[in-house]
Formats: sequence, C-alpha cells, structure tokens
Amino acid sequence: MTIVSSNLVPTTAPRDASGSATLDESKSVLSTLNDDGSRRWIHPRPSPGRFLSARRWVAYGLIALFVALPLIHVDGRPLVLLDIVYRRFYLFGSTFYPTDTLLLGLMLLGVFITIFWLTALLGRVWCGWGCPQTVYMEFVYRPIERFFQGTPGRAGKGWLQTSGAGKVLKYPVYAAISLALAHTFLAYFVGWERLQHWVFGSPLEHSAGFIVVMLVTAGMMFDFAYFREQVCLVACPYGRMQSVLLDRQSMIIRYDERRGEPRGKKVAKASPAADATSAPGDISLPIAQAAKDRGDCIDCHMCVVTCPTGIDIRNGLQMECIGCAQCIDACDTVMDKIGRPRGLIRYATEATMRGEKFRLWRPRTVLYPVVLGVIATAFVLVLAGTGIADITVLRGQGRPFAVTPEGEVENNVRVKIVNRLPEPATYTLGLDGPAGARLATEKASVHVGPGEMVTTPAQIFVPAGAVKDGKAGVFITITGPDGFAKRVPFGFLGPVAGVQTPAQPPATAPGDGAAGGAE
Ligand code: SF4
Ligand code: SF4
Repeated sequence: MTIVSSNLVPTTAPRDASGSATLDESKSVLSTLNDDGSRRWIHPRPSPGRFLSARRWVAYGLIALFVALPLIHVDGRPLVLLDIVYRRFYLFGSTFYPTDTLLLGLMLLGVFITIFWLTALLGRVWCGWGCPQTVYMEFVYRPIERFFQGTPGRAGKGWLQTSGAGKVLKYPVYAAISLALAHTFLAYFVGWERLQHWVFGSPLEHSAGFIVVMLVTAGMMFDFAYFREQVCLVACPYGRMQSVLLDRQSMIIRYDERRGEPRGKKVAKASPAADATSAPGDISLPIAQAAKDRGDCIDCHMCVVTCPTGIDIRNGLQMECIGCAQCIDACDTVMDKIGRPRGLIRYATEATMRGEKFRLWRPRTVLYPVVLGVIATAFVLVLAGTGIADITVLRGQGRPFAVTPEGEVENNVRVKIVNRLPEPATYTLGLDGPAGARLATEKASVHVGPGEMVTTPAQIFVPAGAVKDGKAGVFITITGPDGFAKRVPFGFLGPVAGVQTPAQPPATAPGDGAAGGAE
C-alpha cells in the first residue's frame, strides 16, 4: 500500500512522464512546517458530529480507567503496578518477576501482534481513539486552549480571548493538569501508597521522588504544551510502519475521489460576489447555483481546518493521518448543508473505493489471530508450570573450591528464593549428594515475605573421595508450603587428581559478590 509521506501530493497534482506526482517546491514539506522552515502551529477547529461524540465518550472512559487502574487492589495486591525498583510486575491478579522473562516476552509479543492485527483491520484506530497522546491532547489540553484563546474561525470571543491574556493564563492550568497527569503516570511505577507518601511528605524526606515527579511533569508540559502533534508525526515509530501494516482491504479514513472530483465551489462563474467570500471554511455560498460539472467536494477546506495534524485527507492516505475521523464529521456537516449524501470522506478500504469487493479474511487477518492463539496457549502453559516459588542457585564469588584440613572439598553457593505466594512462606534448604556430603548454612529455613526475594549463602561440603575428575553430582533441595519441593542441580567443583589444590578456605566470605554460574 502506498502512503504519501506528507500533504504535498494532491490527487490533482501534475504528474511526470512516469506518472509520479511532481512536488510543488513552493509549498512546505511537512504539514506543520512553513515555507521558511518555521513551525506552523496547528489549532484545529473541532467538528461536532457522531464520531467526535463517540470519541469523547471513549476518551473520558479511558481517562477514568487510566486514573483508576493503579488505585484498584485485588487480594491486597495492586491490579496494575510495574514496580521497577523492586522488580515486580503486578498485572491483573498475576505477579511477574525478572525470572519470568519468557512470560513477559510472550506478553509483549502478544501486544505487538494485537496492534498489527488491529491495524490490518482498522488502520490507525488506536491512534485516533485510544492512544493517551491523542486522548489527552484532543480532549483535555486543546479544549483548555480553546477556552482561553477561543476557537479559530469562530465568533463569540470574550476578554480572555481578545486581550491575549488567555495565551498566558492557559499555562498555569496546563501545569496543574500535567502535575496531576504525572502523578497518575508514576502511580503505575511506584504504587499509589508510595506516591501518597511522596505527595503528603516533605520533599526533603524523599528528594529523589520529588525530582522524578518534577521531571515527569516537565515532560508532560513539553509534550502537551509544545511538542503536541509532533509526537505522532516525527517521534512515534508506529505511524511510520503503516505502509507495511496496511493493505488494500484495511478499513481506513478515505476521501472518495471519484465522487468528490473535480472539486470546486458550487457557484456559477458569473458570481464574483460569491467568489470574493470564498475563504477557507466558508460554505455559506449560493449553493442553488451549483455547477453541474463539478464533483461533490466544494473545496471548503473544512476537512483541513479540523485536522489535528494539519493535513488534507483529499491528498490520499498520509503517514500523518492519525485516524481521528474529524474530517468525516466536518465533511458530513458540509454534505448535509449542500444537500448531498454523507460519506464523501468515510471509513472505507482502498478496494471498495475502487468498486472492488471487501474481503475480511486475507492472509494477514488470518495469520495474526493464529499467531496470537499460539502465543496465548504458550503463555497459559508457561504460567501453569510456574510454581509457588522461583529457586536459583548461584556459585559464590572467590575460588571455585577449597579443601579443608578435614579432607572435605568445599564450594560456596547462594540460594535465591522468590516467593510467588500472596502470603509469607518458609522454605527449607537441604542437600542431595554423595554419602557424607552436607550443607552448612546459617538458616536452613528461610522466611520469605509475599512477592519478596531472599538470597541466602550456604556451603556445600563433599568428602574428597567422592569428587571424581574435579566434579561431584550434587543437588540443592528446597521444600516449602503446599507440598512444594524442588531439586536444583549444582555443578560442584573439586580438585583433579595429580593437580595441586588450595588447602585453605576461600578468600572471600560465602555468598559475597556476583553470580558465579551454575544452577
Ligand atoms: S470538507 Fe468535504 S467538501 Fe469540504 S473540502 Fe473537505 S472533502 Fe471537500
Ligand atoms: S486526515 Fe482526517 S482522520 Fe486523518 S488526522 Fe486529519 S482529520 Fe483526522
């Protein structure tokens, strides 16, 4: 599928010998760029209609959900918490730890495939209807801006708008909302309880938290007060992937070129007065004088002035289009006024626009759900195989082994226990190895809190005679509540016959330092 990379190439643009559109160099390259390279600020005029109403309800619902999710707890655990500091992820009743790399990877893959599938079916429906960037920009920040500065092209401006004071006064309101938004956002990462402590405590008590909140607030301000639609145009990679994610049967927002062209004002040439009033957005023309040889598009630019990314949908599918459907509402209103059927701009596929049949089932719309099914099955199987605890046995730092004066070979280990239960649990360590082998640890029974991880050092002693070719078969055993039992193999190392060996204990204390290796 071909996507025009900017609004430079109208369908009516001149073509070269090969049929490619030629660019008008006098026009800007990007919809948000002026000829001199400065930024063209977009102040879209809202177009009331069925899609705007529906999107507004969806947006408010999503904002409410976004705020509520970190506050909801189930069985004493947050419904959603991505606790990076303590390396725990709570998602809808399940707790994931760094050891769940496979589960997290499957989940991420599932999210990507779902987005690909949705895009193949409905184009950038996520961008226009669900993305927080669009939701907050179009339904929170822009309405505030219109309140303080007025709506472009609309009358009824008061002192706030005409004096210019609104241009300044909107910023404190932006800042307050950005601060609230930053707190909501951070609640997903630090938890509501910790956030409350940050909010009600002195910044001196938690300077790191205070700095994080301020930085996120500044980021929100930068995004919604300055960067705005540029996030969708230049920063978000999703828009750039459209050409590979869409096909001719994807339902996207399109201008019906066959019906709309040749575009033009619906006035007779002999009406200079009407031509003089033909400013963009003005449809109050003597429609009765419509020229019969024209298409339905009256070139009123209502679809352009309402576009939050500043593009002209009549130029074809463009990378900048976020699928917000504002141009549909705008054009439907125009069609109602000139007595033409709605839908000059509508949700449609490239195929149906060309009179071909719509095909829901095609390779990509079948393949994506199949892959999703495989991922979901794998996820459930892996999740079901996860016990109540994760056990990892790591080699202690320092010399790999030591021979004691008593003639035993000693290895240091660290046993890491992650308790996945929602309540505290006690796990008991043991050893399964050659005759005479023993495990020495300060705490044979380890108490681990709910969702917590405890690392305990231990030493394994094996009679020198049981070590063959520098190795011995040793297993660490761990038992816990609900019949939990696990036997983890450990690569026990010892001296090789004929090779000089250390005759003193390891230089470092057991359990010090980083991971040494085997389980
Ligand atoms: S709003 Fe409709 S009629 Fe007006 S310019 Fe856009 S496509 Fe043409
Ligand atoms: S072209 Fe239409 S659907 Fe696309 S961003 Fe602009 S107004 Fe929204």
